[in-house]
Amino acid sequence: MKSGAGERIEELRRLIRYHNDRYYRDDAPEVSDAEYDALFRELAALEAEHPEAFDPESPTQRVGAEPVDSFGTVVRDVPMLSLANTFSEEELREFDRRVRRFLKSRDIPEEALDGQGYVAEAKIDGLAVELLYESGRYVRGATRGDGTRGEDVTANLRTIGDVPLGIPVPPARLEVRGEAYMNKADLAALNRGRERAGEPPFANPRNAAAGSVRQLDPSVTASRRLHLWVYGTGRVEGASFDSHWEELELLEKWGFPVNRRASRRCRTIDEAIGFYREIEAAKEELPYEVDGIVVKVDDAALQRELGEISRSPRWAVAAKFSPDRAETTVEDIVVFVGRTGILTPVAVLSPVVVRGVTVRRATLHNQDMVDAKDVRVGDRVVVQRAGDVIPEVVESLSAAKGTPGRGPRFVMPDRCPACDAPVERVPGEAAHRCTGDDCAEKRKRALRHFVSRDAMDIEGMGAKIVSALVDNGLVAEFSDLYRLDRETLAAMERLGEKSADNLVRAVEKSRRAPLPRFLFALGIQHVGEHLADVLARHFGSLPALRNASREELTKVREVGPEVAESLLSYFGSPKASASLDRLLREVAPAPPGAPAGRMSGKTFLFTGTLTIPRARAQELVRKEGGSIASGISAKVDYLVAGEDPGSKLPKAKQLGIPVLTEERFVEMLEGKGQD
Ligand code: NAD
Repeated sequence: MKSGAGERIEELRRLIRYHNDRYYRDDAPEVSDAEYDALFRELAALEAEHPEAFDPESPTQRVGAEPVDSFGTVVRDVPMLSLANTFSEEELREFDRRVRRFLKSRDIPEEALDGQGYVAEAKIDGLAVELLYESGRYVRGATRGDGTRGEDVTANLRTIGDVPLGIPVPPARLEVRGEAYMNKADLAALNRGRERAGEPPFANPRNAAAGSVRQLDPSVTASRRLHLWVYGTGRVEGASFDSHWEELELLEKWGFPVNRRASRRCRTIDEAIGFYREIEAAKEELPYEVDGIVVKVDDAALQRELGEISRSPRWAVAAKFSPDRAETTVEDIVVFVGRTGILTPVAVLSPVVVRGVTVRRATLHNQDMVDAKDVRVGDRVVVQRAGDVIPEVVESLSAAKGTPGRGPRFVMPDRCPACDAPVERVPGEAAHRCTGDDCAEKRKRALRHFVSRDAMDIEGMGAKIVSALVDNGLVAEFSDLYRLDRETLAAMERLGEKSADNLVRAVEKSRRAPLPRFLFALGIQHVGEHLADVLARHFGSLPALRNASREELTKVREVGPEVAESLLSYFGSPKASASLDRLLREVAPAPPGAPAGRMSGKTFLFTGTLTIPRARAQELVRKEGGSIASGISAKVDYLVAGEDPGSKLPKAKQLGIPVLTEERFVEMLEGKGQD
């Protein structure tokens, strides 16, 4: 096992068990669900990477927590399981693929799932309970506990008005499963009362429901305005059903509360995804809290075939809503040096799942922002990921609450953390900048930008290699990249000969990069991708831009005084100029409008059988200036699909990559129908 992984696995298991006890046994969690989910995901990923660390006792293999002794224990023979979690539409599609793969491995054609594939239901945020009916009479109620052993809460559940005490025309024996929950308004009122009485409010509806049902005195439960939705069964004797949908219909017929308005029979996973979106949009208006949806394979025979893994059924999955904000703790505030030397304070966070992604760091922008939000190490904060932007700290809850004993205020260091040169505040701006010319961190970032996909696109030149090249004194500026040989590269950290060859090829290819990319790659302050394009088109060549006066520059509609200043100071700096000259000895940027191949800059991938040999088709693409991808990814511009296409085709469709027939591809080669 990789050093440290084993220890981390143990640590995560300990931490998760601790939080399970706080959550399931005490109904008083200490961390947000988003933080818990991040720990759980990290553990699951590490365990998947290290199968030798498998442990049936790991929290990833277990349900909930052991029942508390003060309640009687109920032992069941059909365990109540948890559900695997997904946090995005893509993960839901992956669930569908997993189900199909599994069925296929059992020689069941995946078409078995077509037609009436899934049932999707709102996932109610409450407490899972099981009610036992014998000859139609309610005889026992229990919590889920650790799945097999639950807590006996028979008398408490009897006080919930939605729980039928008798069933007309009943099956001989019936175990019904559902969620005991509290409406939002009732929870708010309960929490207000608790606060008035000096008691801690419940952190969420699930804990409120659990705290209300798991009471030694049933009269407390009776006073709590609890409700019930049922969504399934355990052991049933004397009745049967062929699908989950029928099961719900039967339960309703027997008089149980089934949440029909928030359940849907779906033909395909896409319909289930549509339902997910609808419920997410309607979530605020619902009187009760939902934290996602549950998608279940409808057909009972397929469910049996799919079975379960230790902790959850294979035939169902929870698709949780992952809000774009979550609460967590600031563990540290570190300072990053950007490529232009700007220092950015960054909060190191206890990992937290925000919009389906584990977030560990969030930008604090600059000293003024840190001051305005008063974020300090140790604070509880709200982190946000809106759109695709980098996570940011929205506010400090500790500052808002005036929590006593907080850490000291953050102050930007007066020396660069990377090179120790003095740091200055940029006049008129909120930013601080490293004044050191030789700042290794600045260099690495500038180089990383230079080689990046939208700049010179040197594929394979990752952050690690750049870092090693700078640290070993092999590269100090852009032009040095073009003097690296295969042997030097192969000697770099973990780089095999084949990768070194590919890298050399990628470096070579970049010598003829189009001018806009080249301009963008230089990393001149304020010159982003769009502006680089505008400047390249307007001036047509690098010398023309380089020699342009302030007036000529500001004539360009998109160039304001700030941009003009930045360009003049870049081209006017003797140091930058000398370095640019050295670079231009290696690179000859292609001006816009230069004759280019018909497929110039485009990446192609092939699948299936073409009438011409694939190698020939690839050669033709290369001849026309295009390139060939090694596999499907967002980098591919076109997938050419011949007869019997493989799995690349559905993947390309999913990624929205245009698919060409061979005929269309040939037309393109011949320059027909091009814009
Ligand atoms: P879960 O809540 O993610 O999913 C399983 C449960 O969903 C079922 O047991 C059932 O109770 C419920 N459910 C609601 N509607 C349903 C429906 N229509 N059909 C089927 N089931 C439905 O799993 P879990 O094991 O109960 O809890 C794990 C989650 O609890 C974590 O992801 C985390 O969010 C939270 N948790 C938080 C902490 C913490 O410290 N904050 C600790 C432990 C667990």
